Amino acid sequence: MSINLRHISHSFGSQRALNDVNLDIKAGELIALLGPSGCGKTTLLRLIAGLEQVQHGEISIHGEIVGQGQGVHRAPEQRGIGLMFQEYALFPHMTVGQNIAYGLTKNQQHRRVWIQDMMGQLGMQNMIDRYPHTLSGGQQQRVALLRALAPEPKTILLDEPFSALDEHLRQQVREETLDILKQTKTAAIMVTHDPEEAMFLADRIAVMSDGDIKQCASPEQVYNQPENAFVASLFGPSNQVKGNYQAGKLDCVFGQFELENSDLSEGDVDVVVRARDCLLQLEPLDETSPGVEVVSVHPMGNETHIRVRLNKQPDLGIIHVRIMGHWGGDPKANWKLHINPQRCYCFAQSQT
Ligand code: ATP
Repeated sequence: MSINLRHISHSFGSQRALNDVNLDIKAGELIALLGPSGCGKTTLLRLIAGLEQVQHGEISIHGEIVGQGQGVHRAPEQRGIGLMFQEYALFPHMTVGQNIAYGLTKNQQHRRVWIQDMMGQLGMQNMIDRYPHTLSGGQQQRVALLRALAPEPKTILLDEPFSALDEHLRQQVREETLDILKQTKTAAIMVTHDPEEAMFLADRIAVMSDGDIKQCASPEQVYNQPENAFVASLFGPSNQVKGNYQAGKLDCVFGQFELENSDLSEGDVDVVVRARDCLLQLEPLDETSPGVEVVSVHPMGNETHIRVRLNKQPDLGIIHVRIMGHWGGDPKANWKLHINPQRCYCFAQSQT
């Protein structure tokens, strides 16, 4: 079941929530809508679900228009989509079994066997007659997922499905959800503000900011070939500075670099370097490596986060460096900052 969004714009009073969004979702695909709070993720999901009426643009499901500005509006239950929204809590007066079977039609009663199977697969076979308030948060989340999947929707919409769970449980329920979606060949559109979660679960990530999709591509492409500074700086701590690009060379406070195969146009550029792509060395690897003062060192388990300041650029602020493992260096030594030019993301200033 493909879903196509064309020129979707949406406002709440004078507040513009979505601005000409276009997105094509293929059958069976797992898409994450990733972006900061308020960028329009939930509004987009609610429009696809039919919980919000389209103001401008068009939404089609499997080639058929289900929502159109000033026109068609199919009710949520006519769209063949499963919903697992945060506000769609379980019904407190129904047992787990009744909750999950709630959306089944007369013709779908055979799905009760599937429900039993899935409860077993999730280690919850003895909980079918319990009431939601007697379950843990993770168990309630699994029940909500099964309830959304029981009527066999081709696509399911998930709004921050794991946000209420603690870190350990979140990873476990994420994996279970991914396995169930793949096993049942259900496509999913999932809202998250957690880049790691999007990378882990999605076939493609639609990165959103200010009511717009800034890039939609595979996790690998979004990470390794970001199309703008916003996307480049989304994955972990990063450093953004101004630079200039002329005749194949980038000149910025981190040094001068030859950029291979760059299709950048000459002029002022924004440069993003992730903290994980920065190195501290005692000896300069080239004559332009800038000297830095170490401001503070933060062991983070398997990594060390080091905050530094460029010696010749006191006004630039803090530069973040992340190195693997333990850092045993002397903070008072004469460190040089080294950056791999291939991990230096540059964008014409109009692109950012
Ligand atoms: P979050 O991650 O915090 O849930 P989001 O990316 O899902 O955020 P939306 O909830 O879609 O963002 O909101 C987009 C914008 O629209 C925000 O500025 C929000 O304040 C506004 N908005 C959303 N729903 C309404 C509403 N019912 N009435 C007024 N403004 C709204």
